[in-house]
Amino acid sequence: MPTPLPARPLDLALHLAALGWHILPLSPTSKRPLANCSRCRSAGRAHLIATCPCRPAGRWCHGVHAATTDPARLTAWWQHQPEVVPGVAAGPSGLILIDLDAHDDPLPTDPTTGLLPGIDLTGDPALADPAGIRTGLHTLALLTRRRGGPCPWPAVPEHQPVVVTTPSGGRHLWYRAPAANLRQALGALGWQIDIKAGWNYGLAPGAITTAGTYSLRAGDPAFPGRMPPWLAREVIRAASAPPARSQPHPAPPRARSAGAPANYLTTVITRGTAHLATLSDGRQRALSALAYQAGGLLAWSGLPEYQVTSWLIAAGEASGLPTRLATRLVHRALANGTQNPLSPSRI
Ligand SMILES: [Zn+2]
Ligand SMILES: [Zn+2]
Repeated sequence: MPTPLPARPLDLALHLAALGWHILPLSPTSKRPLANCSRCRSAGRAHLIATCPCRPAGRWCHGVHAATTDPARLTAWWQHQPEVVPGVAAGPSGLILIDLDAHDDPLPTDPTTGLLPGIDLTGDPALADPAGIRTGLHTLALLTRRRGGPCPWPAVPEHQPVVVTTPSGGRHLWYRAPAANLRQALGALGWQIDIKAGWNYGLAPGAITTAGTYSLRAGDPAFPGRMPPWLAREVIRAASAPPARSQPHPAPPRARSAGAPANYLTTVITRGTAHLATLSDGRQRALSALAYQAGGLLAWSGLPEYQVTSWLIAAGEASGLPTRLATRLVHRALANGTQNPLSPSRI
């Protein structure tokens, strides 16, 4: 068994921060970052995180961007709000969180293509008994078997993640990040598997919320393991950012160079994401409109649906919408959009 973590929230925050985990304060009920100060909330669209005076002044505004390893700052936060729960900013800590859910969700309509996006499971013996697939742990086991190992981590300390059980029966696997610039990917690696990376966060190992304890089960927070190469490849595929744009405007759709449709949709999403980030009102409607448009272009673009979905959800989150709301809006609007496919001649 691993060494127990401190129970008191401040002690836990200081313990993990001393190991290089960047800590931010979360609400013990909603598990969301604490709210911005009234000045940041009312500052509106001209307000940039990079120039906000609150973080240099030691306040917790802007959620994951406020995460720190500074013991003085952490102590001040917890003295002010002793009941808040430590969260961990993935990217700044050099970590990535594989979040294996155990929600009571129905299986994807077509499990052969929906359980592991991008991988066709036709004929896989596991699908003979789909009732045996109930959580993200089962989906990860499926991916593991397809890609080459008996277990997501070979039996050597080098690959041992920090393993945490969650109050809802899920599992958190914290690894060292296998690459820079990874981002959140919800469901893109597999059904009930979310990847938290970059400017995303997870409940700290050892955190205690109103729903229960995030219990450390294996691994050492001082030395989170490296992913085995096959898993690193899969995670990088699922959690890579859209390609950087070299052109400020969408590629003309009639110029059918190879990849032009994919570039066009990528540009639509990139610009939509930037627009969303400037809005203080109407973000839900704008995200739905963007997802609807992306749905219309999806088939023509040739981009995989899971990739487009995860970019859109990340756009909603970056604008400040809660993950679950952004996920619901994107799924609904994208599906509606695909019912009304756009072809190049109609753009
Ligand atoms: Zn502020
Ligand atoms: Zn601010």
